[in-house]
Amino acid sequence: MRIIDEVKHARTIAIGGHIRPDGDCVGSVMGLYLYLKKVMPEAEIDVYLDEPAEIFRCISHIEDIKSGINVEKEYDVFVALDTTDDRLGDAEPIYRRARKKINVDHHISNHGCGDVSVIEPDRSSTAELLYDLMEPEKVDEEIAKAIYIGIVHDTGVFRYSNTSPRTLQIAAELIKYGFDFSKIVDETFFEKTYLQMQIMGRAVLESVRFMGERCIVSMVSRRMMEFYRVTPKDLDGIVNHLQSVKGVDCAIFMYETGTLEYKVSMRSNGKVDVAAVAMKFGGGGHVRAAGCTMNGTYHDNINNLSIEIAEQLKNE
Ligand code: 5GP
Ligand code: MN
Repeated sequence: MRIIDEVKHARTIAIGGHIRPDGDCVGSVMGLYLYLKKVMPEAEIDVYLDEPAEIFRCISHIEDIKSGINVEKEYDVFVALDTTDDRLGDAEPIYRRARKKINVDHHISNHGCGDVSVIEPDRSSTAELLYDLMEPEKVDEEIAKAIYIGIVHDTGVFRYSNTSPRTLQIAAELIKYGFDFSKIVDETFFEKTYLQMQIMGRAVLESVRFMGERCIVSMVSRRMMEFYRVTPKDLDGIVNHLQSVKGVDCAIFMYETGTLEYKVSMRSNGKVDVAAVAMKFGGGGHVRAAGCTMNGTYHDNINNLSIEIAEQLKNE
């Protein structure tokens, strides 16, 4: 399938991704936006997404993103990337109204929610999958950069086991466009502000291991976030850091989003299927990286997650 064949008759196109967009989400949404603007200059194209983190300012035309907007418009086509329709946030009603819905994703928990769905869980990232739906000769430096950012973020800079030969082939094709990939990796993936580093340190300091030291958990409360003057976007990477502790099979990180409400992130080395755990609590994701929102006290949530994790480790 070529994305262009699915959208070429459209005069109005909307593109969207999941709430709290990560690098893959922002990279694929912007990559597709730049691509369609180039190959369909006559079409009216809009992007709906929660405001991306500051680090993604390096992506061309990122300022075109419409955040927190509720329009009555009925688009000819809506392309939902890296998500299911129920995680589109403000764009969900716009998606539902669209005449044709296209869903491109790599989440194993997504069973497809479009008139046309391309779901490939073996792909490292939605950005990688999207690249293979484009005509390579139409890609330019700015499109390549957006896609590269998507791949880099979802593979942890080509480190996670979702990295395949195809991932690296595509990365090789992309860096031929000549953008400063090393700077992009440093500035969007590794670099942290001092406050981000401090709250990460605090979360690591207060982490606790349990289940025979095979699991690790930590939490950031709203009060802590106020104290360090950080927002949820500043907490990215903490759970990955916890997962890199020697001997740990499963890392859990939570931050408080409301009274008795927590956003949960989980990572595993493959011994625990965290997507299955997250799905039990209404979330989803991948085998080694997943998330959900949970209601209850911090300790109740740990208990409830532990039951699912212990069940899996028992059957190991
Ligand atoms: P993170 O822990 O980095 O927020 O998310 C890890 C992975 O799980 C990402 O692929 C993300 O899209 C997915 N994920 C996180 N939270 C949720 C959720 O509440 N629902 C679903 N379906 N997926 C989630
Ligand atoms: Mn992704």
